[in-house]
Amino acid sequence: MEENVDQKRQLWLTRVEPYEGESISHFLGRFRREKGNKFSAPSGLGDVAGLGAVLARWEKFYFNPFPTHQELEALATLVEVEADRLREMLPPPGVGMKHSPIRLCCRCYAESPCHQIEWQFKVTVGCASHKLRLLSKCPVCEKPFPIPALWVEGHCPRCFTPFAEMAKYQKHY
Ligand SMILES: [Zn+2]
Ligand SMILES: [Zn+2]
Repeated sequence: MEENVDQKRQLWLTRVEPYEGESISHFLGRFRREKGNKFSAPSGLGDVAGLGAVLARWEKFYFNPFPTHQELEALATLVEVEADRLREMLPPPGVGMKHSPIRLCCRCYAESPCHQIEWQFKVTVGCASHKLRLLSKCPVCEKPFPIPALWVEGHCPRCFTPFAEMAKYQKHY
């Protein structure tokens, strides 16, 4: 175990600070791409963490079976974010996930550029802080949003409309 931890430290990974409310998918994508980390695929990071293919499932919001404390601890060692903090990037017990469509509150994104885990809860009807319905595809070209792990520039991958500029298309509720 000691040896294992040392091995991981030798990778000189760059720590990434989580955003408030950030989903695990968005966080893992940012961590993989961070300068010096460069894991092009979730499997690369999963292998180093000793988690195998499970991270690819988490990036798509598939949490069945639910991430165990051991898995979160293994990831915590690697990304240097505490397991309890990683747990906050997952749905609370008993809350069902919507795998698709990927949803977005553009006002929130403009304030804090991340995908929030609660947008994918089945029970979520809109953004509670802005009182706006969530977008479930690009309102300009109608392309569905990619999984948050792939949100690099914060714009639609097809028409390049910035997420932060889509707010005018969100309806009040
Ligand atoms: Zn919002
Ligand atoms: Zn678009």
